[in-house]
Amino acid sequence: MPSVVNSSLLPESLRDDFPILHQTVHGERPLVFLDSAASSQRPQQVIDAVSRVYEHDYANVHRGIHVLSERSTDAYEAARTKVQKFIGAKYDHECIFTGGTTASINAVARSWGDANIKAGDEILLNPMEHHSNLVPWFQLAERTGAVIKHIPLTDDGRLDLSQLDDVLTEKTKVVAVTHVSNTLGTVNPIAELARRAHAVGAVILVDAAQSAPHLAIDVLALDVDFLAFSGHKMCGPSGIGVLYGKESLLSAMPPFMGGGSMIGNVALDSFTPAGLPSKFEAGTPPIAQAAGLGAAIDYLSEIGLDKVAAHEHALVERAYAGLSEIEGIKILGPSPEHRAGLVSFVLHQPHAHDIAQLVDQRGIAVRAGHHCTQPLHDSLGITASTRASFYLYNTPAEVDALVEAIQEVATMFKPTGRKRRPQ
Ligand code: PMP
Repeated sequence: MPSVVNSSLLPESLRDDFPILHQTVHGERPLVFLDSAASSQRPQQVIDAVSRVYEHDYANVHRGIHVLSERSTDAYEAARTKVQKFIGAKYDHECIFTGGTTASINAVARSWGDANIKAGDEILLNPMEHHSNLVPWFQLAERTGAVIKHIPLTDDGRLDLSQLDDVLTEKTKVVAVTHVSNTLGTVNPIAELARRAHAVGAVILVDAAQSAPHLAIDVLALDVDFLAFSGHKMCGPSGIGVLYGKESLLSAMPPFMGGGSMIGNVALDSFTPAGLPSKFEAGTPPIAQAAGLGAAIDYLSEIGLDKVAAHEHALVERAYAGLSEIEGIKILGPSPEHRAGLVSFVLHQPHAHDIAQLVDQRGIAVRAGHHCTQPLHDSLGITASTRASFYLYNTPAEVDALVEAIQEVATMFKPTGRKRRPQ
């Protein structure tokens, strides 16, 4: 493949910020990390921010009237303000710290869902959703008697909006949709879906687990009601995520967890909840993780999400072009113009897990399985796929290494026509 000098690529020197990338595996193989959609790596700046809290400032937040507690509380609340600016929210108290995307979506399904959904109401999903944006709604439907509906997909793995009117009706109370599919890479038209959902009186929840790390998000411009994402996929620590909700919705919702910090007042047999955001942050929160998430936001913002997205787009175009040439490959999802920086595929032979194992031997980390999108894999008639996902620290040379490795695997397993295919 030609070595393209592409002005949309970020400088390779930013890899120096990520200590974990500078290692060899399986002997002398340089690590090629193409599994950031599962969890990204973090720069030294984030590692230092977390260490600094533990080394200098750590105490429980919002509780002690002593210097360390004040410092921890300041760092924790400063991170909230960074999140607010990062997604363009109107108020910082609309940004709730949770354990991650899964926790955020469950919180909405429990709290908003139980208060607003009744038997016969419809919940609109689609087959490309991650289990985290399916199962909490199935559970809500089980509790309430609500009905699950799906927006069909086009053959190339996009939402088929030509059929939206059939499934989005006055009965629809919530549309839950991913911004970017973690398997197909499809970027969904969130602003349009929000407009259409609001036109029938429904709310929209956006799973931004795969978009917040990669694309600039403006919740006001998109006009979404709820947005969920995770720190660990965007250069931040694990164990922290965000639930954004419009103030009017969050204010009317009951707390989904009871305990310390979320109360205004407690008597022997009753309580009053605190205001936002504490109402939804019961117990000791992820304190050092919040400081790390704040540092990750600083890091990404300094580079610029537009540049991150352009970089990944150049990589995914290169991967798509290279992989498409391999005989017997099927790439899942749409052409690069409609996708973010990941590509999943299947070969006639071997199975996805074997592919991942074989390329791991060459130092290349990819993911294999159903990527928590089992209904999508079922609908495509496959049980598993192999996924390579790119982030700001990946390079064209790494994409080429992937393509070369997959080409080798495909050649190894090429059916001869005479012998039985290897199982
Ligand atoms: N939604 C999507 C689209 C995802 O890719 C993931 C993570 N694979 C999740 C939700 C769940 O995120 P977490 O495990 O951080 O809660």
